[in-house]
Amino acid sequence: MATIFSLIAAGQIPSYKVAEDENYYAFLDINPLAKGHTLVIPKKEVDYIFDLDDETYAGLCAFAKKVAVAIKAAIPCKRVGVAVLGMEVPHTHIHLVPLQTEGDLDFRKKKLEMTPEEFKETATKIAAQL
Ligand code: 5GP
Repeated sequence: MATIFSLIAAGQIPSYKVAEDENYYAFLDINPLAKGHTLVIPKKEVDYIFDLDDETYAGLCAFAKKVAVAIKAAIPCKRVGVAVLGMEVPHTHIHLVPLQTEGDLDFRKKKLEMTPEEFKETATKIAAQL
């Protein structure tokens, strides 16, 4: 059975898309730690990031870098933090989170509530920098 992130990348489940190419897809996390919190996935369905073949892993990192640069240009922040957890969704994904402070990358903190309009505007802003 396809993972929820495969269904998102295939457009079968809606998402706030930020970027896409043949092999990778980036979209806003639905429970963001900060405005602009983005997930970057390979379209290839592999649960654990370090089980990816080298080519897909390198391509994922390069794609995530482009998206991170766009996030930094679109969202006021000091840096874009990077995290890989995968405790919830068994499909490799890199979290990119705009940071003001170290605490912004604390996954135990209360998530930001954003309206659909805010999500849409944020995704559009980031995509415009790519
Ligand atoms: P992790 O697997 O890295 O522990 O957490 C999965 C992340 O994916 C969480 O931050 C969660 O909010 C996000 N997430 C889970 N399901 C969906 C979904 O259907 N759509 C989006 N946009 N994000 C999701």
